[in-house]
Amino acid sequence: TMDFTDRLTRVEPSATLAISALATELENEGADVVDLSVGEPDFPTPENIVEAGKAAMDAGHTGYTTSAGIIELREAISEKLADDGLDHGPEEIIVTPGAKQALYEIVQALVEDGDEVVLLDPAWVSYEAMVKMAGGDLTRVDLSETDFQLEPALDDLADAVSDETELLVVNSPSNPTGAVYSDAALEGVRDLAVEHDVTVISDEIYKEITYGVEQTSLGTLEGMADRTVTVNGFSKAYSMTGWRLGYFAGPEDLIDQAGKLHSHSVSSAANFVQHAGVEALENTDEAVEEMVAAFEERRDLVVDLLDDHGVDVAVPDGAFYMMLPVDDSEALRASDDASGDQPRADDQAWCEGALEDAHVATVPGSAFGTPGYARISYAASEERLEEGIERLAEEGYL
Ligand code: PLP
Repeated sequence: TMDFTDRLTRVEPSATLAISALATELENEGADVVDLSVGEPDFPTPENIVEAGKAAMDAGHTGYTTSAGIIELREAISEKLADDGLDHGPEEIIVTPGAKQALYEIVQALVEDGDEVVLLDPAWVSYEAMVKMAGGDLTRVDLSETDFQLEPALDDLADAVSDETELLVVNSPSNPTGAVYSDAALEGVRDLAVEHDVTVISDEIYKEITYGVEQTSLGTLEGMADRTVTVNGFSKAYSMTGWRLGYFAGPEDLIDQAGKLHSHSVSSAANFVQHAGVEALENTDEAVEEMVAAFEERRDLVVDLLDDHGVDVAVPDGAFYMMLPVDDSEALRASDDASGDQPRADDQAWCEGALEDAHVATVPGSAFGTPGYARISYAASEERLEEGIERLAEEGYL
């Protein structure tokens, strides 16, 4: 038998897998599943980007590139970051196959056995797994009592961060809550990071997707330039999930260390994909604006429909997710009654039930460290969103 490593056996398989396996099973049986569980835009990649990718292939951009990424793309990223107020030349940027790989490389460069990493819950599922694979220990700050906002929870963050803290991960706009942290919240992060000499990852993959507010980049705050690693990518803003393209920017010594992992593992992101990325950054503002406007309309629609059914949510200002409180739903109370003295049914049970009874797929909040909620993605057509919420209501899940 094979003797598997601790670093992998201590990581759980994704809790969302059970839901998507069940959804596929139902679809195979012919059920019409409304899928509100996916973390990707439902729009095609803008045409000019697709054309640029094809043209790059035709032009023969099919070989290896420099490990950190083609200079044209790193220069375009450098300019994009400058627009955000961040000062990183191409030598401080690594282009990766997706922001996920960027995060993985940063965590591997900074976290080792016993290092303490602070997460803000609910947090995107892979941060925990990445930290555990690196041997780090997690300290989690719960934002569910403050409508998922960080500013009113800064005291809790202050309790969590100490001189022992190696790394803090900030993701705003947030997956799974859609919360956009205020400038005052980011200043609070800065004060703690400076006081305790902590490195901060700022995962800004949803930065371009906000509604009526702007997301400040954490690295622009005084004192943060040398301790912030900024992560972004093309999956969400440009609807390019399957292209696998992202990047990180930070101090050059981090880039040097992480660059070793990068060159010895992925080598580089795909050549023609990087060329398409240049086009995305340089010529796609209008398409992004249109997608963001559509997401905003859908957010308003879902918030209104839920309100019609008496459900209050923390209204998200960014990304395309929201957290639905599920503890008080009729269906869960019914299953509590049926189970008699069994412990209270949980969000996992709610999600499984909603899928089986209403054929609506969502992700349990416990997957993000926050039980009692289900994450809804509203990256779906208005018609499907209406259908999904109607079905949840009919089956007693709201
Ligand atoms: N960070 C967050 C918060 C995300 O939600 C995702 C995707 O779901 C990623 C990073 C990784 O995106 P990708 O690897 O597609 O660039």
